Amino acid sequence: MNHQLTKSSRNFRPLSTNLISCSKRWKGGRMSDLSELPSRRILRLSEKCLTLQRNDFVNKSLSSWAVNQFMGCGHGCSFCYVPEVSVVKQKSLLRGYGVESPAEEWGRYTLVRPWDRTSFLSDVLKAEGTPLTELNRDGNRAVMYSSTTDPYQVLKGLSGEDLKMMRAVADNARRKSLEMIRDHSTLNVRILTRSPLAREDFELMRSFGDRLMFGVSLPTLDEKVSRIYEPDAPGPQQRLQLLEDAHAAGIATFVAVAPVFPQSNCEDLVTLFKKVEKAQPHTIFMEPVNIRLKVAERIEASAKKLGMENDVSPFRDSQVWADYAVKMLKVAELAAEEAGVRAKLHLWPDKALGSKAVVQRQSNVHDYTSWLQRCWERISEWPGKSN
Ligand code: SF4
Repeated sequence: MNHQLTKSSRNFRPLSTNLISCSKRWKGGRMSDLSELPSRRILRLSEKCLTLQRNDFVNKSLSSWAVNQFMGCGHGCSFCYVPEVSVVKQKSLLRGYGVESPAEEWGRYTLVRPWDRTSFLSDVLKAEGTPLTELNRDGNRAVMYSSTTDPYQVLKGLSGEDLKMMRAVADNARRKSLEMIRDHSTLNVRILTRSPLAREDFELMRSFGDRLMFGVSLPTLDEKVSRIYEPDAPGPQQRLQLLEDAHAAGIATFVAVAPVFPQSNCEDLVTLFKKVEKAQPHTIFMEPVNIRLKVAERIEASAKKLGMENDVSPFRDSQVWADYAVKMLKVAELAAEEAGVRAKLHLWPDKALGSKAVVQRQSNVHDYTSWLQRCWERISEWPGKSN
């Protein structure tokens, strides 16, 4: 079966009409208790094809562009702020696919963007021709897979032939787009995932040589803590193994200890850093949980669903949160020093940590602001490039 979709087939709806598997209907509206969320999952083919677009990362030094082949993300991380900062803008579009509340239903819907050779090639050539002066200074001319979803997530919400078909559309779009970037540009690629399904593309990744970096998000090694924050993502040990396998396959690696949870202490981070170091990552990114509107509610609901206790006070109050965030960043520096990976640690302090109120609470304001500035200005490592 040829899964390559042409322009005229962008509205193609190849699947059966009942694409919403619905075990409990939910009328939408404001949820007072997120643990009462509906259990339905929505998996649909998006009417919008795959694109390569500029991203708006600030001080992260991750990439200049992003390819997001899905809208939504089946990992459903409770701390994820994509629904508040990105997906929420697509509210009316999502309603057309049966998603009534993008933030509350986060993790339960995925729209798959199909491949369109002509439009993607046009995006690639436009990116290739963009002068360096027009790009973010820290993006390494890299295209990120992905900034608002996981490129290797397990698709759920359909079964049988419909599910197979949807997987084939997604795999085809991802592979064709990577090949096009490799063969029609000099752009770099940065892949970040929580999913062992990425192994399927190791051969393709290796064919990029120094132009591709593969990374795994690994905020903790504690399986129980991971279940609260990353309820539907593969466990930490699987991800650690994935990272090591990528390194063994000859692919340049990096790690995102992001976000680090309040449960982690210095000892935990030393252990984590030592373990990931086996894969010789070029960079270890690290950030605390960022608070957004629904984050505390989602984290609380996730713990409740698992019957676990979890203190969400750092996510409810901006002052408590700032103290937690600064503390975790400083603890990470000490842990990295002890693990012998200090030079690789690339911290991402949120811009809110530079606010007057937070700065004034620090014991040495000058040292603190200089440290923040150094973190924000840092440019991440790239293989074959001297930083
Ligand atoms: S994997 Fe990333 S995009 Fe997906 S839910 Fe988790 S944090 Fe959000």
